[in-house]
Amino acid sequence: MVKIIDEDLAVQAYRSCLQSITDIENVFKGIGFDPDFERVPSVFFASDKKGVKLIEREYEIREKYKLPVTLLDKKVLSDKYGFRASCALENNESAQIDAYKAATHLIDFHIHKSGLKVFTNTEVTKIKEKSAGYELQTTNGYKISSKYVIIAAGFEAGKFLPKQVMKLTSTYALVSEPVDEKYIWHKKSLIWETKEPYIYIRTDNENRIIVGGEDEDFKDPVKRDSLLRKKVSILEKKFKKLFPDIPFKTDMAWCGTFSSTDDGLPYIGTWPGADRMFYALGYGGNGITFSMIAAQLIKNKLKGIRDERENVFGFNRKRK
Ligand SMILES: Cc1cc2nc3c(=O)[nH]c(=O)nc-3n(C[C@H](O)[C@H](O)[C@H](O)COP(=O)(O)OP(=O)(O)OC[C@H]3O[C@@H](n4cnc5c(N)ncnc54)[C@H](O)[C@@H]3O)c2cc1C
Repeated sequence: MVKIIDEDLAVQAYRSCLQSITDIENVFKGIGFDPDFERVPSVFFASDKKGVKLIEREYEIREKYKLPVTLLDKKVLSDKYGFRASCALENNESAQIDAYKAATHLIDFHIHKSGLKVFTNTEVTKIKEKSAGYELQTTNGYKISSKYVIIAAGFEAGKFLPKQVMKLTSTYALVSEPVDEKYIWHKKSLIWETKEPYIYIRTDNENRIIVGGEDEDFKDPVKRDSLLRKKVSILEKKFKKLFPDIPFKTDMAWCGTFSSTDDGLPYIGTWPGADRMFYALGYGGNGITFSMIAAQLIKNKLKGIRDERENVFGFNRKRK
């Protein structure tokens, strides 16, 4: 990232994401609900020689800024995690969560506690600017008037953006049948690699193993779905190469659209010149942490509180 944006902004982006993990944890502690939030280590391993260089450079810069990191060599990696790679970066600050459980419970909580109104299956088709705010139109012909609008339409937000800021790609994932606890590696760590297309691996609370990645550079859903069988087979092979002794049997597989940006960072804040229209676009592989930052940043803006993070995530951010 420091090749694309200023080093201090890259470090601020990393620190903001790190902080948001704790903030997410606290949101659920605050409402007394556990969406299977679990602190687990993260292991980022070198897939090849190019990956070794990347890991070394990444280690250097994280050390420089005292970001949590340990460099594991081949032996330590193999002894501790049971798979082979030249080296890896480890940190103990990462976490995993059941995102569906978390989102649905949080909405339900605020329906009851805060009077939140949710209109499901209500697609907004147009947004018109009015003198006192906005008028939104829905597919059913209803009109909604509001002072402010927050666009959090994920990868479908393009039609509400003056300019395309994200690239839409396809991604694949599968989940295994539960495996015996004895097969699960050190502290159920999150595992991912340097190569692209990459794979990532995690577990759930039933000791199922989730393997994902194998991204493709297009978004066409028909083409995407037609590749699912082939992608499952590649992901299974990659997993078995890393962990040949784990009796891995795929239970379910799926694919989806994924959005990313040139600098790997999301777009959060107002479009220059449109002060009452906010965007919470958590594009990228850290979408969950980015979404937490978006919630805080937009809340601060609405309250008139200056938030330095807009320099990193806003539409006006500086590039090198
Ligand atoms: C396979 C996969 C794995 C991922 N893994 C991770 C991970 O490990 N960690 C991580 O942090 N992130 C991960 N992500 C990314 C993360 O899921 C997303 O960044 C996150 O869901 C984005 O949240 P969002 O609320 O911005 O958008 P979404 O979750 O896409 O929600 C947008 C919502 O807006 C609605 N909508 C769209 N258009 C309209 C409209 N016109 N009117 C009304 N409603 C509309 C949609 O129906 C949808 O409900 C992963 C994504 C994928 C696909």
